Amino acid sequence: MKMSKDFIQKITAPNGSMFTGSGTNSYLIGKNDLTLVDPGPKIDAHIEKLINLGEGKINRILVTHTHRDHSPAAKVLGEMLDVPLMGRLLEKDDSLQDKTFKPNRVLNHGDLIETDEYTIETIYTPGHASNHLCYLIQEEKVMLTGDHIMNGSTVVIAHPDGSMNDYLNSLALLRNYRFNKIGPGHGDFLEDPMAVVDWIIDHRLERESKVISKLKLFAAVTSEILVESVYDDVDPKLHPIAIWSLEAHLFKLVGDEMVDYDSANKTWSCR
Ligand SMILES: [Zn+2]
Repeated sequence: MKMSKDFIQKITAPNGSMFTGSGTNSYLIGKNDLTLVDPGPKIDAHIEKLINLGEGKINRILVTHTHRDHSPAAKVLGEMLDVPLMGRLLEKDDSLQDKTFKPNRVLNHGDLIETDEYTIETIYTPGHASNHLCYLIQEEKVMLTGDHIMNGSTVVIAHPDGSMNDYLNSLALLRNYRFNKIGPGHGDFLEDPMAVVDWIIDHRLERESKVISKLKLFAAVTSEILVESVYDDVDPKLHPIAIWSLEAHLFKLVGDEMVDYDSANKTWSCR
């Protein structure tokens, strides 16, 4: 007897690394009318696996954002399966982007993808990336969060495509939705989503207060020096990555008119 499959299948790509944890999660939703979310990197074995699991029933491909570990397989799979790609266009190019992703349908906040089996609601969540979307599978009460919320690692916010201000607002936005489970772009499913959302917001705001209190100790300081005290709880080997998040906090504080940035000297100071 054939085992019945989960309504939402999580398939992890073999691209594990410091940035991707155990690898990028692709999701297949549905029974006979399948939606593929985040096909992942262009790795032949992964693409083949998705095609096999899809059993010819994949009818559309959705992408949460265009980072290179999430969307590059979309173009290939879209052509092979002759199905439309959906997501948002790249807004600000940086070295992290997949420029091959061209959606046939651009999704906006609140857009619904309706099938006979289920409805997917699009939630616009800029922050980690300016073109980031989360997808709520309404009947299942599962939110696919891409890199907006990951399990097991802290989300990188890299200025200027990433924005800490947007990120915090987009986290708060999720409180308006009812769901029981998070399907993250990396790591396992997460239960108790509101506790997860609140924890991330608290954690970021704690870090922000630490940025302010450490910055006050200097007249003016570079990110490279400031990171050592703000992230003294993090392995110094990770400081080059922590600088991205530090600067995302600092640019938010510039926007809040609490911090000044001297672009000639690349230094920060409290107002
Ligand atoms: Zn990403």
